[in-house]
Amino acid sequence: SNFELLGLSQNLAKSTFHRGYKQPTPVQRKTIPVIISKRDVVAMARTGSGKTAAYMLPILHRLYAHKQQVGIRCVIIVPNRELAIQVYNEAIYFIKGSSSNLRVGLIVGGDSLESQFNLLLTQNPDIVIATPGRLLHVSVEMKLSFSLLEILCFDEADRLFELGFGVQLTELINVFPKTRQTLLFSATMPESLVGFINLGLVDPFFVRL
Ligand code: AMP
Repeated sequence: SNFELLGLSQNLAKSTFHRGYKQPTPVQRKTIPVIISKRDVVAMARTGSGKTAAYMLPILHRLYAHKQQVGIRCVIIVPNRELAIQVYNEAIYFIKGSSSNLRVGLIVGGDSLESQFNLLLTQNPDIVIATPGRLLHVSVEMKLSFSLLEILCFDEADRLFELGFGVQLTELINVFPKTRQTLLFSATMPESLVGFINLGLVDPFFVRL
């Protein structure tokens, strides 16, 4: 399929077909091969462009490539609860559609802290989708280890800064291993974001549409 030509495994390509995606969108075409190559990526992409699948598919491809001990392998940071749930649903769709058993957890404000502690203690998610404030809070309270983290992804990064999460994001990137791959998706590129990219990403590949 067209998705397989971008380097995705047959199983993942099949899951896009079941999802009803026949052709990759422009942002998917540009980002998927680069993310698979493990390079850091900054992509200027709006809601509606297919940005979620543009990072979710290659993230899953990377995680499927090898087995890992139990622990958090990927963190996806989003500005709000609604987007977190959308991203969660997209992840579950592709995971089920590709017959994988990767586990996904949501750590967002508005849910009880206790349920999120339980989730992390009993479900052992491989992928955590989180809002920044709650993730910091939970990671400090639970002394969470991110030593197995392979991929860190920021979605709607400009919104994260508009909402005033800048300090928390800078605090968070220091918690993750330096050896990680970092991805950042944003509709616009304000000055604050340029500084953050210089701090948190290494030689990123820029995708502009
Ligand atoms: P997003 O920009 O990730 O919020 O996606 C916008 C909408 O496009 C969502 O409803 C997706 O399910 C859909 N979508 C994403 N990729 C594709 C694709 N390759 N073909 C058709 N629809 C897609």
